[in-house]
Amino acid sequence: MDDAVAGRAFAIPMRTRFRGVTRREGLLVCGAAGWGEFSPFAEYGPRECARWWAACREAAEDGFPAPVRDRVPVNATVPAVGPDEAARIVARSGCGTAKVKVAEAGQDPAEDIARVEAVRDAIGPGGRVRIDVNGRWDVDTALRMLAELRRFDLEYVEQPCATLPELAEVRRRGGVPVAADESIRRAEDPMKVVAAGAADVVVLKVQPLGGVRAALRVAEACGLPVVVSSAVETSVGLAAGVALAAALPELPYACGLATTALLGADVTDDPLVPVDGHLPVRPVAVDEERLREVETDPAAWRDRMAAARAAWHAAHGGEMNRSPGGARSRRDTG
Ligand SMILES: [Mg+2]
Repeated sequence: MDDAVAGRAFAIPMRTRFRGVTRREGLLVCGAAGWGEFSPFAEYGPRECARWWAACREAAEDGFPAPVRDRVPVNATVPAVGPDEAARIVARSGCGTAKVKVAEAGQDPAEDIARVEAVRDAIGPGGRVRIDVNGRWDVDTALRMLAELRRFDLEYVEQPCATLPELAEVRRRGGVPVAADESIRRAEDPMKVVAAGAADVVVLKVQPLGGVRAALRVAEACGLPVVVSSAVETSVGLAAGVALAAALPELPYACGLATTALLGADVTDDPLVPVDGHLPVRPVAVDEERLREVETDPAAWRDRMAAARAAWHAAHGGEMNRSPGGARSRRDTG
């Protein structure tokens, strides 16, 4: 992707603060296969960004593996709002699965319980309810809260605690399946989750794992059911998440890909928004006018991408040269 130097930078205001971020920024690149998005978070250095670059390169140059389904179920996300607003969000979403944020700083357990109860009532007995703790409980709190919340028939609790030993203990004693999200940031992490007995489900994101094919290999190696989640990308980046969800052999859970609404704008006229609780599996075309509305000076982002690409080649160059059918280096032949 040497034409990466022609990437277009964007900065889009967030409707809701996420990871302390109020503007989502990145670089969009158009290659032989379509558009790719490179949008690592600001605190990541070149080594971390290398996988995000590989994901962008795959989207732009290789395209995605063949899908086995033509739409992907997605969950509604209920932030730490009051019970009435929580019920409204679920009813409006049209989704059959709701993810409820709990353990928000400054709120007490009664508020979490009231919110989950309202969501269970709103979605009905056939709907699915999961909760996301973002690692904020210790084991005792997790066990106490799950004893209360179990009656709402939770499909799983996402990242109840911060560490793998804690997740494993909650999984053994909590009576609710556990999903690992923040515990998975790198390709090797799912295997650590499995080895620790820390989760029943893994939440995978395409960019941090280095692309759709890399994420498929991770999913196969770890052997646990996968929930595909976004890194709050534009519809271009989301399309890669949808492609992963569409290519997984099994998809027993709704995915966390209904996130375009978190952004105040998009780069396409036809954004990936859910219809009847599903996202369509399709390419996303950038609209020139929309992109121009959110476009920023690309110089710093192009530098960042060049550094990420160099880091990727430094880490993987040998592998590429050894791969069957891959280009052989001078060293190999000489
Ligand atoms: Mg989560």
